[in-house]
Amino acid sequence: MGLQMLSDKDRIFTNLYGFESWNLEAARKRGVWDRTAELMQKGQPWVIEETKNSGLRGRGGAGFPTGMKWSFMPKPSDKPHYLVVNADESEPGTCKDRDILRYDPHRLLEGILFGCFAINAHASYIYIRGEFYNEASNMQKAIDEAYVAGLLGKNAAGSGWDCDVYLHRGAGAYICGEETALMESLEGKKGQPRNKPPFPAGAGLYSCPTTINNVETIAAVPEILRRGAAWFAGFGRPKNAGTKLYCISGHVNQPCNVEEVMSIPLKELIEKHAGGVRGGWDNLLAVIPGGSSTPVLPKDICDTVLMDFDALREVKSGLGTAGVIVMDKSTDIIYAIARLSHFYMHESCGQCTPCREGTGWLWRVMQRMVRGNASVEEIDTLMDVTKEIEGHTICALGDAAAWPVQGLIRHFKPQMIERIEQYRKEAKRAA
Ligand code: SF4
Repeated sequence: MGLQMLSDKDRIFTNLYGFESWNLEAARKRGVWDRTAELMQKGQPWVIEETKNSGLRGRGGAGFPTGMKWSFMPKPSDKPHYLVVNADESEPGTCKDRDILRYDPHRLLEGILFGCFAINAHASYIYIRGEFYNEASNMQKAIDEAYVAGLLGKNAAGSGWDCDVYLHRGAGAYICGEETALMESLEGKKGQPRNKPPFPAGAGLYSCPTTINNVETIAAVPEILRRGAAWFAGFGRPKNAGTKLYCISGHVNQPCNVEEVMSIPLKELIEKHAGGVRGGWDNLLAVIPGGSSTPVLPKDICDTVLMDFDALREVKSGLGTAGVIVMDKSTDIIYAIARLSHFYMHESCGQCTPCREGTGWLWRVMQRMVRGNASVEEIDTLMDVTKEIEGHTICALGDAAAWPVQGLIRHFKPQMIERIEQYRKEAKRAA
C-alpha cells in the first residue's frame, strides 16, 4: 500500500522515549503550552468543531469520535461538569499511555485544559493505574509545576478559565479501566461497572455530567488545535484519521512503542519499526492487533491488513488499543489464547452471570483444549458459549473474554482438531 509514512516533524509525541526531560522547561521547548490561551480565545465551539473536523477518535479502544463525545455534554447548569482521564492502562500488550504519563505529562495537562474548556468543566481527575508508580510520581510533579507556573488553577495559562487537576491512583483492578467502574472507584466504592443508561454525559462522576477520555486522546488535542484539523485529518484514511501510537511486542526483533500514521499496513509497521518478525516474516504465525481482547489474525491476513478501525473490523478483529502482539511459529497458539482466558476470568468483577460463570467455563474448557483432552464437537460448543457471553453483559469485559476464543476457533480450528486427535492417539497407545 502506498500510504504516507510519518516524518519526525509530524510526530505529536516527540518525547516518547524519554530522551529529554519530562519537566516543564523541556516540555515548553517541545512546544507544549505554546499559544494555549490564544487558541482558547477562539471559543469553546471552535475547540469542539476543530476536534470534530480533525477526525480524532478515542484512542482507548472504542474509537468514538472525540469532538462528538464532547458535544454530548449538557449545557451548564447548577451541577459541576467533570473531565475524567482514563490512565488505567491495563490491557495486556498495551503500554502507550504509560510513556506519555512518564515522559510527556505536560502534554496531557495542556490537553486536559482544552478538554475541560470544551465541556464546561473546571475540574479533572486523572485515574492512573496503581502499578504506574513512577508515572504517577512524574505526573504529580508536573501538576505541581503547572500550578506554580499558573498553567492550572485560577485563570489557567492566562485563558480566563479555571481548571483544577487531581491525580487518583488505582489499586490494581483491570476492570477499573472500564469507564463506569472507574467512576465508582473514584467515588470510593468497589470498582464495578454501572448499568447504562444513564450515560456519563448525563450522570457520571458524583451523578454529574462527565466525559471520560483516554490519555493518548486528550494528549493529542493541543497539537491538533495548534496545527489545525486539516493537518491531522491528512493522515490515514477517511474515518480513520491521524497519527496513532502503536505498541509492538512479542516475537519481533525490537519491541517498541511508535507513533505512526493511522492505516499503516501491519507488515510495514512491524518491519519498519520493530525490526521484523523473529526469523523473518515467513516465520510469522499470527498477530493480535489491538491488545489482548481483539481476535487473533493469522499470517495470510496480516500480510495485507491495514492498522485502522475499519480495516481491522472488516477482518473480524479490531484496532482496540493498538497493542500489537506478534507470535511466530514457535507459539502454541491454543495455549496463548487459553492464557488470555485465564486473565479475563481473573479480572471479571463477578457482577453478571454470563461473565462470572462464562469466563470460568471458557478457561476450564480451554485448558482441556490445550491438552487436546476434548471432543471435536466441543469446539463448536465453545464457540456457542462465547456467543452467549458476547453482548449479554453489563460491560465489555464479557466481549473481551469471548473474542480471543472466537478468533482462535475462526482461524485455528484445524490445529485444535489435530491436538484432540493427537491426544486420542497417545491415550490409545498408553491404554
Ligand atoms: Fe463485571 Fe464481567 Fe459483568 Fe463487566 S461483564 S460487569 S466485568 S461481571
